[in-house]
Amino acid sequence: MTQTQASAPAATARALVEASQQVLDAALAHAALVTEGGRLIDEHQVHTERVAYLATQVRAARELLSHVERIAAAGRPDALLERMAHAYAAEVAHELRSQREAARPDFGLEDEQARPLWVDEIAAAIDAGLDEGFLRAIGRDVISSLGVNNTDLEDEVAQLTRDMARNFAKTEVEPLAQEIHRQDLLIPDELLDKFSAQGFFGSSIPEQYGGTGMGDLPAIVITEELSAVSLAGAGSLATRPEILTKALLAGGTEQQREEWLPKIASGEVLVAIAVTEPDVGSDVASVQTRAEPAEHEGERGWRINGAKAWSTFSGRATLLALLARTDPDPAAGSRGLSLFMIPKPAYDGRHWRFEQPEGGVIEGTANPTPGYRGMHSFTLAIDDLWVSHENLVGGDEGVGRGFYFQMGGFAAGRLQTAGRASGLAQAALEKACQYVTGRSQFGTQLAEFQLTQYKIGRMAVHVAAGRQFTYQAAREFDDRAPEPSMAKLLTCDIAGEVSREAQLLHGGWGYSEEDPISRYVVDSLVLPIFEGVKPILELRVIGRALLAAAAQ
Ligand SMILES: Cc1cc2nc3c(=O)[nH]c(=O)nc-3n(C[C@H](O)[C@H](O)[C@H](O)COP(=O)(O)OP(=O)(O)OC[C@H]3O[C@@H](n4cnc5c(N)ncnc54)[C@H](O)[C@@H]3O)c2cc1C
Repeated sequence: MTQTQASAPAATARALVEASQQVLDAALAHAALVTEGGRLIDEHQVHTERVAYLATQVRAARELLSHVERIAAAGRPDALLERMAHAYAAEVAHELRSQREAARPDFGLEDEQARPLWVDEIAAAIDAGLDEGFLRAIGRDVISSLGVNNTDLEDEVAQLTRDMARNFAKTEVEPLAQEIHRQDLLIPDELLDKFSAQGFFGSSIPEQYGGTGMGDLPAIVITEELSAVSLAGAGSLATRPEILTKALLAGGTEQQREEWLPKIASGEVLVAIAVTEPDVGSDVASVQTRAEPAEHEGERGWRINGAKAWSTFSGRATLLALLARTDPDPAAGSRGLSLFMIPKPAYDGRHWRFEQPEGGVIEGTANPTPGYRGMHSFTLAIDDLWVSHENLVGGDEGVGRGFYFQMGGFAAGRLQTAGRASGLAQAALEKACQYVTGRSQFGTQLAEFQLTQYKIGRMAVHVAAGRQFTYQAAREFDDRAPEPSMAKLLTCDIAGEVSREAQLLHGGWGYSEEDPISRYVVDSLVLPIFEGVKPILELRVIGRALLAAAAQ
């Protein structure tokens, strides 16, 4: 094969992706028409969800394929990944074809428009990519390398970063991970110090503000490696500061950036996010917590009253990024919200209370959870909490713009979460490979059973597709684009599915709390919930963006 010639599996995958794209574009165009460019999504929620998810899968197939094509063109072909690209593209094409068959009136396509997925060459490529023998062969190859992820990152800095992060994860985090989970402990300070010393908190903060300025891809790779040993004990540490960092870079004053970003980068301040409220979740624009203009000893500031829910790590954190309503007129909606940075002391434990010298009080009570342990998520009661005007993100210009800063930050959080999910799925895949090579039943190693090979083949294909989509979303990070949300949507589902399949492969031992696989399963359950619960991403973020674009 010359460097520019595509391998047979890659060429087949290319044909499948282009055929799927053609049909998808027609489906999106019709959905855009019916929903008036996304305005009437709520009258067509089920179909919008369908096309948003299919678009996400087609995009993942494209990114996996583009990756294998690029590395082949660079003279570093990966034959296994090329077969995976074919398998995933076939699965997605098949999914699109069958969804359209099952809901023809909703798709509204003429047979001619759906034809690209039925022509002989494509139908044969789908059959070949779904063939169980083809997937079993992939599974066997994955098992023989114990599922280890050595995928080409196409970037030297990212490659070195992965080695360093993996080494840190294995030596510093892994020995603590099970204990943190089983005893529901907070991440020990010693580990936080080591994490800070590695510069992990500053990986996506520009150098001028004290970060390492590595960029979004290395930052995601760090999160992925840490999440592969512990989602909450290390893998999620960078998400909170990342949300505030992006908000500060987008809307903070220069003085705020200079004051806070170096402290975030060094780990001197640890950040928690307080947006969700007991009665307000996905509908962020309806936040009820109120901030009213106030003065304390001649200083201009705000008094905040209300309640927040699910504020992860807000006990140990020393800076809360809190969204509150500064315009009392409910009609102001999202334009009435501002983002505040509230310094506080660090507390251990499940209950804490901070009485400010200025007279305000904030009290946190942890919500018990089956997984995602290590940081605790708190309900917050807020009573006359004082915050200086200097700590309103954006200063005077930032009043009423908190929602937009926060949403930009959430896009970064979603990308982080795609990295977290990829890491968790990878951990489950590797654990499954180890288990099936170490156990025999009926005189046969589990890895030798056809069904085991098939399952592992499918798991590995999904993990690879989610990962490459995530990496590409990181390389091209744009907080206004749907891609970070699409990558998050898909990888979180993959993490759930792969960890449960891996648990099943462990039989009863997979249900034991002593085995990390049971931790991966309970941890994975939270992934489609936070940083935008799955249906909201599908409908209001991805569906809306794609249908608006398709209507142009
Ligand atoms: C462990 C954990 C940690 C968290 N950490 C943080 C944190 O640090 N900071 C923070 O601010 N928040 C945090 N959250 C909160 C999280 O972001 C919210 O749970 C999430 O945004 C969803 O909000 P909700 O739980 O109120 O669900 P709701 O918004 O009430 O949604 C519940 C369900 O209703 C349905 N639904 C809602 N709206 C629609 C619609 N328009 N169309 C169709 N269906 C709809 C969907 O099925 C949805 O899943 C955390 C949550 C958890 C579980």
